[in-house]
Amino acid sequence: MWVFSGKRKPGESDHSQIYPADFVQKHPQDHREQFAATLVDAYKTSNPATTVTRYSVFLEPGQIGSTTPHDHFHAMVLTDKSIRFTGVANALREKGIYASASTHEGYHSGFRYCWQPGSKKTLSDLDPTPFLPPEHPPPEVALRRPRTAAATKGRKATKPAKEAKSRRYSLGELKTLVRRENVRTVADLMLRAQRIPELEVFCLAHRKDLQKYVDTVWEISAAGDTVAEELRVARRMGMTRLELLSEAATALQCVCAGRYIPAYLAITEMQGVGGLLERAIIHALDVGRGKDSNLYLHGDADCGKSFVLDPLRLVYTSALTNPAPNERFGLENIHGKEIVLLHDFKGDELYCPWGNTLCWLEGKPVGLEVKGGGSFEYSGTAPVFFASGTTFRRIEKGLENVTETAMFGTRVRYIHFRISMEKSAVDRTLVSCGRCYAAHLAAYIGRAAA
Ligand SMILES: [Zn+2]
Repeated sequence: MWVFSGKRKPGESDHSQIYPADFVQKHPQDHREQFAATLVDAYKTSNPATTVTRYSVFLEPGQIGSTTPHDHFHAMVLTDKSIRFTGVANALREKGIYASASTHEGYHSGFRYCWQPGSKKTLSDLDPTPFLPPEHPPPEVALRRPRTAAATKGRKATKPAKEAKSRRYSLGELKTLVRRENVRTVADLMLRAQRIPELEVFCLAHRKDLQKYVDTVWEISAAGDTVAEELRVARRMGMTRLELLSEAATALQCVCAGRYIPAYLAITEMQGVGGLLERAIIHALDVGRGKDSNLYLHGDADCGKSFVLDPLRLVYTSALTNPAPNERFGLENIHGKEIVLLHDFKGDELYCPWGNTLCWLEGKPVGLEVKGGGSFEYSGTAPVFFASGTTFRRIEKGLENVTETAMFGTRVRYIHFRISMEKSAVDRTLVSCGRCYAAHLAAYIGRAAA
């Protein structure tokens, strides 16, 4: 346990909490929220006449050799009345939580300490995913000193430390900021740069690559955030899809004992698409989403459409596969994905509004919405691979709009699989093999122009 010294302003406090080591294990997803509930409850039981009006919880990793060697929470709590913290501390102690309060001139001050980098903390020291309850004001509001306090306090300017000004903004800090503040676009980022001088310098220096940096952060987040994964993703981000294909041809292990490609060739020969299919896949991988580039295989069930596309997910491990059909948010996780793979496409579903669907497939930058509010501009190039029982039809109010259907048609390359295989002829034990598939396709690189 450790204790802050100093006087506490009534009604406002910053508590540092040491919690039992198994607290996070018990609540792996939402331990901050769990802790917040425990904390608010402690206020209620110890001071029934007082209302908690604002609170937030940050997790801070312990630092070996410092006064805080253990992971602990920082929580800001604002109450409507002045209270004695002792009662709260006792209520928490009954739950095995040791808490102490420290002096801050107001909620905004404690919040700033945890939210913004300063002389004591860089961005990478800060909690990327603090818990702010839904009713909590936006961070930029919570950071503001209330007017009355500002008037009495005078101009005790909190200038950024000199060393901070000359310090370079690191990619680790960028990652923390992007994730914590849900930054999706360059415009979002520039807005933050207005309050962080080092970030502004960084943005000006890397203006052309900012979207790529932002996309990369989301890609890394989605990938699980281990160091190895970050390195892998960073490396993959620097490679073209065709380079990844060539690499997969040697780096992956064969898992099919040489059985996948003979089956693949039997299908493409039977469907009369041998060579054509390979060139179309290579073309899509090469140029990315765009007119006559996205690949759309259609035909009855058991034609082998999915079979000939499925190994793509083994070669391109960062693929967006079958998002929920939804007119608004189906593409919210498309950031940084190498390809989009849509098996069992029904032929009329949408993943974003119709106008955006056309832009998306055409290869233009497209505004996409995120569940829970917010949007971002997607400018990635991931090509789209469809496998469907039918060609696309644009349905409006129950009727097909043939003009719009045709618009869609210019944005994909249709390949028809005409022949259904006998059910008995389909070998269900055959597994997709990324290595054999990549090796087969890689032989067509440079021959895709036709
Ligand atoms: Zn194989």
